[in-house]
Amino acid sequence: MLRQNMPQSGSEQEIIYEGIPASPGIAIAPVHVSARGFAAPDIYEINVTEVEGEQARFMQALDITKRQLVELQSRLEDLSGNNESGIFEAHAMILEDRAVVDRVIQAIGRRQQNAEYAFYAVMQNFLEAMRRIPDPYLRERTADIEDVAQRVLRNFSTEGDVRPLGPEDQHVLVAYDLAPSDTASMNRRHVLGFATEQGSVNSHTAILARSFGIPAVVGLDGAVIDIIALTPSILDGYTGKLILHPAPETLERYRSLMLAKEKVRSSLDAMRGAATETVDGRSLTVSANIELVDELALVKRSGAKGIGLYRTEFLLLNGEEMPDEKQQAEVYTRVAREMAPHTVIIRTLDAGGDKLPVEPLTDPEPNPFLGWRGIRVSLARPAMFREQIRAVLRASAFGKVALMFPMISGISEVTRSKEMVKRCMDELEKEAVPFDHHLPVGIMIEVPAAAICADLLAPEVDFFSIGTNDLIQYTVAADRVNPHVAELYRPTHPGVIRLIKRTIDAATDNGIWTGVCGEMAGDIRLTPLLLGLGVEELSVGPQQVPRVGQVIRSLSHAECAAMADEALRLSRSQDILELSMSLARKHYANLLD
Ligand code: PEP
Ligand code: MG
Repeated sequence: MLRQNMPQSGSEQEIIYEGIPASPGIAIAPVHVSARGFAAPDIYEINVTEVEGEQARFMQALDITKRQLVELQSRLEDLSGNNESGIFEAHAMILEDRAVVDRVIQAIGRRQQNAEYAFYAVMQNFLEAMRRIPDPYLRERTADIEDVAQRVLRNFSTEGDVRPLGPEDQHVLVAYDLAPSDTASMNRRHVLGFATEQGSVNSHTAILARSFGIPAVVGLDGAVIDIIALTPSILDGYTGKLILHPAPETLERYRSLMLAKEKVRSSLDAMRGAATETVDGRSLTVSANIELVDELALVKRSGAKGIGLYRTEFLLLNGEEMPDEKQQAEVYTRVAREMAPHTVIIRTLDAGGDKLPVEPLTDPEPNPFLGWRGIRVSLARPAMFREQIRAVLRASAFGKVALMFPMISGISEVTRSKEMVKRCMDELEKEAVPFDHHLPVGIMIEVPAAAICADLLAPEVDFFSIGTNDLIQYTVAADRVNPHVAELYRPTHPGVIRLIKRTIDAATDNGIWTGVCGEMAGDIRLTPLLLGLGVEELSVGPQQVPRVGQVIRSLSHAECAAMADEALRLSRSQDILELSMSLARKHYANLLD
């Protein structure tokens, strides 16, 4: 949604894009518009008198490219003796497409930026639309178009000496969409925040942004094509705004807000060693979720009492294959050693869904979240599963380690996974490799069937960790990364909280503990509810640890439990949220964003 404020005298008009807040924080920097596929060219501003010259440069680059393609085609025909070869026809067609050409010509005038950048921006929009076409044949054509676009970029003549704004400068990144791997590999000294057209609050891209403390906004319609790179901006990750050409008073307001937030942060930091116990003496563990070993420093600074979820699928980031047993053991050992004496819960691979696939499937899955994911992949690839479990066991000799299985839907997956653990233990025993013989083994409760059957699963395991991100999506049948159904994705849906309650009750009856490691655990509006339902551990992004700790210290367990009993009798998500919020406002209004 776009809102324009009145022009400020003597300055550019302030423009506010409204999206969905995905990671809290404020960034003040020029925007840099980027996308996937091929490298962005340099970008620089031109003045009105240079527009025509730039348009001519663009037309010239197109002509050169067309000539090259004709030449290439005839060379290929000479070689193959086949004059029907149409390989470069599709390439040439895009250069003839008036809609594309006109858009670039207009964009040069409108943006007043160099021709290659205007061309790049138009092509990126076009390519992103193509990447989303369901037809696999058409989707594959994107590679051809990227190829020809790259060729056009090489054919721009350059002269003069310009100082481009490159991604090495501090900026707010605007993109059509970002994959979790893009966020993980972001240079955080340069990317102060990001905004995307696509995406959702519960995607792994957003989760990573929150872990790293990168302010982020998603769901900004039309941002990539409309926003002109280099524009001064403020990204507000609290309310989901991207403000272009901020007026001086807006800048002032945001600078004071940043200071105020910083103050709250330092006061929370000062408390990070304090026990996380309610006013009536109930103790909860606040641990951290990590995706990458890079985050360990943040976790240690946060005062977290362990790692409640180590998402090992992010080991796939730098390659297509899972690292071998030795490499994994080294990583896990480092995490276990650094976190000792606290526990590190290592979750076996949960590739699939919106995360990196462990291996490319021949056809894209029609419903990746209902497909080949988590424990299903591990059980189907026993050699890989065995290596991972052996690596975790090896690490268990150097600290306190627990093992956790994702996406469990029933007892047979638990039994088969435990058989693999037993087999690995026997092997290591024979090989005289030290490991923790009492390694706790737990499961994620994130599939509704597992929550419903929690009483059947509890006797088999040492703990439950509720993955609310998935539990919510599967319970209300609303894809966690699809903005069109974001309205339905409600953590306080009565169906969700009943499943949480059922899980905790089954755990209590069987003498095991229950934690929550989904994003709900870090949403402090809902801490009173989770606490009242009987959760014993909350595992949250490292940035949220101090705040959640302080929230627990402000609450009374008895009061939360009475509130949760009442919540379980309500029929509307909004009313349940309100009930939890009433305690949040009463006890820690200052901490709510
Ligand atoms: C969850 O589903 O809540 C969870 C913690 O796992 P992930 O977000 O990695 O799917
Ligand atoms: Mg999950």
